[in-house]
Amino acid sequence: MQDYDCIYNILGSRPRVTTNCISRFAPSPTGALHLGHAFSAMQAYDLARRAGGQFRLRIEDIDQTRCRPEYEAGIRADLIWLGLNWDGDVLRQTDRLAAYDAALARLQALDLVYKCWCTRAEIAAAAGAPQGVQALYPGTCRGRIPPDDDRPYCWRLDTAAAIAQTGALIWEDAGQGAVMANPALLGDVVLARKDAGTSYHIAVVVDDAWQGVTDIVRGNDLFLSTHIHRLLQALLDLPTPRYHHHPLVLDAMGERLAKRRKSPTIASLRAQGLGPMDLMRGLRAGHFPQGFALSE
Ligand code: GLU
Repeated sequence: MQDYDCIYNILGSRPRVTTNCISRFAPSPTGALHLGHAFSAMQAYDLARRAGGQFRLRIEDIDQTRCRPEYEAGIRADLIWLGLNWDGDVLRQTDRLAAYDAALARLQALDLVYKCWCTRAEIAAAAGAPQGVQALYPGTCRGRIPPDDDRPYCWRLDTAAAIAQTGALIWEDAGQGAVMANPALLGDVVLARKDAGTSYHIAVVVDDAWQGVTDIVRGNDLFLSTHIHRLLQALLDLPTPRYHHHPLVLDAMGERLAKRRKSPTIASLRAQGLGPMDLMRGLRAGHFPQGFALSE
């Protein structure tokens, strides 16, 4: 418990939890909001509002090469236009780097992380993965003698050692019931990137605990990450929220909406004259405009 408080106390005292349901929407400002984001934010918003709880907004901007202030401004404007108003202050992850460092330091003290100097090409070659397929890290740098130059390194979780320490872990999933965590599915994930000094996995578990989030609503594309998040919560003595993984919104071609592809944004639907009330009423009834639909 002491270390738990230590992580919280880096940037002030732990916020008081005043309700029994706190959900959040945690977009990365690397593009404009699209229908998939609106659907996810709406699910999180409705869950909190139905429970008389709170809906928080967190800006996940640790990847400073891809995040832009104008995208953050657009996300806020779109959420307000959709009527998805958040409670309290907006948390920005670039203001929280000291808390992520503290979490990493705790894992270093437990000897559960190691430095990795591998490049992407080296990992793919060592894992024998076909081009374009993301390989599980084969553990090349676990126990490796440091190279005698100053090439950059990341920190990886020694996932097998971590599981050996925590034992079996379960999380409560609205769709699947009690799920047994299997972090080995993701292997030795990066916890502090070469370029950012932290990672999505560390930041998300530390911030969900800091914001008192009780219910995490997010797309099925992040289901696998939950295996690692559950492990990190156990290692860092952080509480485990309930998880609500929802289907993804697909376009008329049956393809996932990705920010990097040309998917219609909330701003473009607005420009076409679609009103927020109609849009939200439709989404709540499972009716999507322009041939969009939910995945199975
Ligand atoms: N920032 C992530 C994204 O935009 C979502 C993180 C989460 O919901 O855990 O995809």
